Parts: sequence; structure tokens; C-alpha cells
Amino acid sequence: MLPGEFPTSLIFALVLAATLAFFGWTVWRLVRVLRLGQAENRFDRPGRRVANVFAYFFGQASVLKEPAGFGHFCIFWGFIIISLGTLETFIRGFAADWTYARLVGDTGYAAFGALLDLFGAAVIVAIIIGLVRRFVVRPFRLRTDDPGGPRDAALILSWILALIVLMWLARGVEAHLGHAGDGLRWSPVSRLFAGLFAGASMGALRAQLAVYWWAHTLLILGFLAYIPYSKHLHILMALPNFLFKRLPGEARARLSVIDFTDETATKFGKDELTDLTWKQILDHYACTECGRCQNECPASRTDKPLSPYMLVHHVKEHAIRKGYALLAGKGTLPEGAPEIARQPLIGGVVATDELWSCTTCGACEQACPVFIEHIQEIVDLRRSLVMMQSSFPTEVQAAFKNLETNSNPWQIPWSDRGKWAEGLDVPTFRDRPDAEWCFYVGCLGAFDDRAKKISEAFVSLLKKAGVDFAILAEEEKCCGDPARRIGNEYLGQMQVQANVEVFARYGVKKILTTCPHCFNTLAHEYPDFGGEYEVWHHATFLRELVRQGRLTPKSPLEGTFVYHDSCYLGRHNGIYDAPRELLRAVPGASLTEAGRHGAKGFCCGAGGGRMWMEETLGTRINENRAAELIGTGAKTVAVACPFCMTMIQDGMKAHDREDVKTLDLAEILDRSC
Ligand code: SF4
Ligand code: SF4
Repeated sequence: MLPGEFPTSLIFALVLAATLAFFGWTVWRLVRVLRLGQAENRFDRPGRRVANVFAYFFGQASVLKEPAGFGHFCIFWGFIIISLGTLETFIRGFAADWTYARLVGDTGYAAFGALLDLFGAAVIVAIIIGLVRRFVVRPFRLRTDDPGGPRDAALILSWILALIVLMWLARGVEAHLGHAGDGLRWSPVSRLFAGLFAGASMGALRAQLAVYWWAHTLLILGFLAYIPYSKHLHILMALPNFLFKRLPGEARARLSVIDFTDETATKFGKDELTDLTWKQILDHYACTECGRCQNECPASRTDKPLSPYMLVHHVKEHAIRKGYALLAGKGTLPEGAPEIARQPLIGGVVATDELWSCTTCGACEQACPVFIEHIQEIVDLRRSLVMMQSSFPTEVQAAFKNLETNSNPWQIPWSDRGKWAEGLDVPTFRDRPDAEWCFYVGCLGAFDDRAKKISEAFVSLLKKAGVDFAILAEEEKCCGDPARRIGNEYLGQMQVQANVEVFARYGVKKILTTCPHCFNTLAHEYPDFGGEYEVWHHATFLRELVRQGRLTPKSPLEGTFVYHDSCYLGRHNGIYDAPRELLRAVPGASLTEAGRHGAKGFCCGAGGGRMWMEETLGTRINENRAAELIGTGAKTVAVACPFCMTMIQDGMKAHDREDVKTLDLAEILDRSC
């Protein structure tokens, strides 16, 4: 019996209805798990959100950033075109001779057939390349500790392969039965398959069509039922993740704020599934398991226990299994819940060493094609460790204590904060309360011997350019970045609030910094605490002074320079050009680039509070980076961050290459001006 004939149509209707019901039930369960999460408002600017869906879902803009993404583009659009073919197949389950020709005419139908052929072939090529990459080449980014992942990928890819071949077989038979009319005219592959059935009797053709149609139909319905249980859940969940992604203008490196005045709060930070927001759970659903984040992660690249890919995957498995179990147990975990559901989120699903390995560099978020927000979740879990369990690397204890008592991470009295400027004729706000600019020096710029030289060079340049500025000296506190990123939100907020009060006392409106961490925090996080300022990092400020002719680099500085991008200046704030423009403005200096630069720049290893933690696992991030910088042959590494300065210099020492100098942009410019 051919499709469309009774009782085939009845059986098909029942199978279709059962599959759709099962699919709908599964998706509804996944949505109910999302609803176990905390509230989060991601519904503003709906027009912009819909535009994102068109750009990133239909346009595949995020995967096309790299050549390997073209394969995904082919599979995605092949999937859409072939799904239209599938719709026709389903309609034929009720009306044997129905084709799209009734809607678009013979020529339109022939063009549709050509598209089916074209994308079918492109998908097969992309699948073969995908299988070779995953199982033969096995690049770093696809390495996984989950044996089920590659198995699932192989199953899905083979499934799609079989679907396309069955589609061609059915179209080949139909050419002889006359169902497709002249629709195969521009379909060379389908015609090739039609050649296989030349000379077959009508009975044999009808029998074969029935077999291919059923096989094709059952595979598709099986695929639909299986998707939500597979790594290809992202086919369903990427679209909503594009819809609810962070919008332009929302800083990536802006941590959420805990309200410590909320007397009903019983815990700070997150340590279980239901503490995550619904958007954080959705992030896990949307993961494509592409491994791009792992490829870029400095922790993964230096053999530390953290892989953002695996972290997202493990939490996804936990979220779904625990979510289902909680739904079944009406809010409590029933006995017999699977092992992964019973594991604690911290110390079980995610190891504490994973959490402490993160530098919050943002390389994972930059690389992720579905815009998963790893950093906030890692910090949320750290917050729970620090504030609820008092559990953190022992060496951090001293930094916390010092921040509390001295407002800097070292055991240096807070009253010494302005000492670096003694003898330099640097005005303070006590003397010049109406100064136009506040030079917010930061802990390293004020206390670290090497970074003090950056502060000195910067004030020298400010004076040369006639900028009206002052410093806060001992009235300045740590900006709050290290404490907040390590997870001590309470301590971080104390620092922030103290600074906001001082800024208010002097009516500070415009701030300059030489540290990208201070810059990021002051610019993006202080507004959450009532502190709205115009904040400039010295790279962009100095570029402006040079452009305006207020500073003119004159003395030549010979040699090749390589600029090391700071994560908090580059990836987190999009400032890539200003430092390079400044270096190019210096007479005699030539500029080269490291392999990993710009948005793909490699972290120095100090962010996320890692500066105050021992690096005992894997190899050292700063040495990895220093080796790459040495490999460029440059004689000077230019940096725009005192954290990077420390780490890169130490890396050079470790490689016994102190002949390669590390200088801050301000020092380079000051020498030339
Ligand atoms: S923020 Fe950086 S260190 Fe942390 S997981 Fe992402 S890539 Fe790895
Ligand atoms: S988190 Fe993003 S980049 Fe990492 S594996 Fe998942 S989809 Fe790919």
C-alpha cells in the first residue's frame, strides 16, 4: 500500500500524532525544568531580540566567524530545506499525489528539487568532514571526558546521512511512478538515483516506494522524538538563547549584585540547580558541544581541570536529570533518582578546582556561538563557596584580610596609598577638590614597585599634556574587582561603596585609570551602586591626547614591539585599536602581532583573582603566553595593564628571556614624548 492510501494514511496519522505528543511532552518537561530556576528579566527591547534571532539563528552569523562554521551553515540550511521536503512527504501520507507543484508551479517545484539536491549533497559532504574531524583528526577543542558525546554525535550524523539517502531513493522511484512530474529536471543526484530503478515493474516500484517512504518517515519521527534527549537539543534551544542573549550595550564583565539588605535571604551565591536563573539553565540546554570555548580557554590550554565545554555539559546533564526528578517528586528528590541528579552541584557536578582555575578572561564567551554566559555562573558558584562555606584557596585568606583592613590585597597600611606620588608634585583632591579628572590609581599602581613606574609615567604624560587632574591618595580604596571575582561579594561591595562615597564627597565625574580591571569595574559595575562616571582607560585617553596634538611622540624608539591584549580591556571592553594606534605613533617603532591577539588574545593568567592564588595545577598560563610573545621576535612587549605587566615579566624570567622588555603604553609614550 502506497502512502496516502487507506489504511496507510490511518496508521501514519496515528504514528505522527503519537510522536508529536511525545515530542511536545518532552519539550514541556524541559520548559518546566527552566521554570524551577530563579526569575531573570530578559524581555526588554523585543525588536532587538528578534533581530538577533534572524542574525544568529537564520543567518548563522556567530558560527560563520570561522571557516569550520561553513559546514554548520550547510547542515543548518540543508536541514531547513530538507524539512520542507519532509513536510511534503508527510502530506503525501494523506494524499499520494500531492506535491509543492500545486503551490509553486512546475518550474518552482523543479527549482525546489534542485535545492533539495544541492543542500542534500552539501550536508553529506559536511557530515563526512564532521565525522573525520571528530573521530580521526580529533582537534583539541573536541576532546571530551564524556564517552556518550562522540557516540551521540556519530549517531545523529549517521541518522541525517540515512535520511538524505532515503529521500533520494524515494525521489528516484517517484520519477518512474510519475508522481514528481517534471520536478526532477534540475536534480542531477535524484536523477542518478532514478537510474537505479530503470526497467523495474510498476509493482516493484510501488513496493519500493512504500519501503523508502516508511523508512524515511519513521527515521524523521524517531529523530524528532530523540532530539530533546541528545546533544542536538541545541537545535531547539539555540533559538530561544539568541532571543534572550545579552544585548549590545550590556557589558559582558558586569557581575550581578547581591542585595545584602534583604533580610529574607538565607543563602548567598548558588550551590544547587534551583538557585540558577531560568536563563542560566537555558544556556546549558543551548550548548552545541562544539568545544570552541575549550579551545580558547587558558585553563584548558594549560592542562588545568577546567574546561568550560565540559562544565556546561556536566551542569546540563545534572539540570535535566535533577529537574525531571524534582518534578516527579513534586519538589523533593525521590529515592532512586539517577546518580547525576543526586550529586551536589559544587564539589560533585563541578569540582572546586574547576571553579578556582577560571581567570574570568571571557575567551569562552567570546568564542561561544550560542552566547552562553559562563563567567557569571562560575562566580555565582564561587560566591557560595566563599560566603556560605568559607572555602577558598588558603592563600586567598591573606588577600581578603588585607582588603578588609588595608583596602589593598597586601599587608601595606592603607595610609601609604599615596606614597608612590611623593616628590612627583601630584595634586590630591584634598588640595584640588575641583580638579577635572580623578586619576584612580588602583592597588597595583599605588603599591606594586613595577606598576608604580606606570603611574609615574602616566602622571608625567598628564602633566605634559596639561590635563587638570588629582589623585585620591589614601582616600582611595581597592576598586572591588578582585574580591567580587573571587566570590567575596560582601567584601567587594564594601570597597565599591567606600569609593562611591569618596567620589561623591569630591563631586568626581570623570575618572582615568591605568588598569583595565579598575576601568571595567568603575565603568560597568559602579552604576549598580549609584556611581555614574565618565571612565577612561589610559590607552584611549592617551590616544585622544596624541590625536589632539597635546602629546607628540618625538624621540624614536627603535625595535619591534608586540602588543599583548589585556582581557579586561580587549575582550571585555572592545578596546583593541587604541593601544596599537599609540604604538604606531611612536617614531621608529614597528609593530608585530602574536598568533593569538585581538579578540582571540590569550590571557596572562591574573584575572578573576588568580593573581592572589597559587598556580599549582597544569602548566603556567603566563609562561605559555610569554613563550608565544618571545616567538614573535619582538624586543619589547607592550602591555596596558599592571596585572599583565607582572605576569608577562615573570613569564620572561621563567624563560630566561629578560632581554625581552615588558613596558606599559604610558612608559613607551612617555619615553618618546
Ligand atoms: S573565563 Fe577564561 S578561564 Fe574562565 S572558563 Fe572562560 S575561557 Fe576559561
Ligand atoms: S559552551 Fe558554547 S562554545 Fe562551549 S561547547 Fe557549548 S556551545 Fe560550544
